[in-house]
Amino acid sequence: MAERITGHTLLISLLATPIRHSLSPTMHNEAFAKLGLDYAYLAFEVGNDELEDAVKGIRAMGIRGSNVSMPNKQAIIPYLDELSPAAKLAGAVNTVVNKDGKGHLVGHVTDGTGAMRSLREEGVEVKGQKVTMTGAGGAGTAIAIQAALDGVKELSIFNRQDECFENAVENARKINEHTDCKATVYDLADQEAFKREIAASSIYIDATGVGMKPLEDESLINDPEIIRPDLVVFDVVYMPKETKLLKFAKEHGAKKAINGLGMMLYQGAEAFELFTGEEMPVDYIKEILF
Ligand code: NAD
Repeated sequence: MAERITGHTLLISLLATPIRHSLSPTMHNEAFAKLGLDYAYLAFEVGNDELEDAVKGIRAMGIRGSNVSMPNKQAIIPYLDELSPAAKLAGAVNTVVNKDGKGHLVGHVTDGTGAMRSLREEGVEVKGQKVTMTGAGGAGTAIAIQAALDGVKELSIFNRQDECFENAVENARKINEHTDCKATVYDLADQEAFKREIAASSIYIDATGVGMKPLEDESLINDPEIIRPDLVVFDVVYMPKETKLLKFAKEHGAKKAINGLGMMLYQGAEAFELFTGEEMPVDYIKEILF
């Protein structure tokens, strides 16, 4: 890396806290080096209190772009000049582009496009399909919005009665108002509806994080009758690689059981393309990361 960095090198930042565990710096720096692009990617421990100054720093220093993670995905919006259609609908940003370094900052959200690309790479087309999903937090919102923008015909969103239930209602309202998708929200406690909606869907997406520590022994689906040979099951969790849900889906013959590694990889790849205009060498990055 030292050999690569010169006075011309352009900087991409990552603003989040905690952030030291993130795979993004490795992912982007390896991709820059592989393609011979004169960029460097660095993580900065920045929370809501430092965010406004950090965004001023992006403008002042001509930083070419930034990824944004928790707790800044929503908090950054007031400091930006423009939002992509998906970021506007999702009310969240994970990628900021400073076009030509001139200080006009555009916010994008690539978690949803990453998830949709991951499905497509597995040969799963969402267009025209009915999808059932659980979860309406950060990941669930990005996925629901992008699924609707990508042509999902019907979306059934289940959430438990917690602080995210209102998100689910709001997501469905925006989807119904701004896209051709018909979104409906259900209480996850209504297990009859849950079974019925999955039975009528070709894809089930779990965006809750159930299956990840400390809930690694839990799954929202425990009835083998729900799993069918024509049902695709997608879990946003990538640690562990095989959640209890994915194991159960495989054991009971689901068409596909897909984890969140692809979503993670492709949200980075989509951001990389926004920053540099070049395609990330994803096969090479996959080898390095996984
Ligand atoms: P969040 O806290 O914003 O939202 C969590 C959602 O899950 C909410 O809708 C909540 O109601 C629901 N939920 C939580 N616990 C539940 C339970 N026990 N039963 C039923 N519903 C429950 O979280 P988030 O930022 O959306 O992240 C969710 C998961 O997605 C995490 O595991 C995170 O690691 C993963 N994630 C993966 C990627 C990726 O690239 N693969 C990207 C972002 C997030």
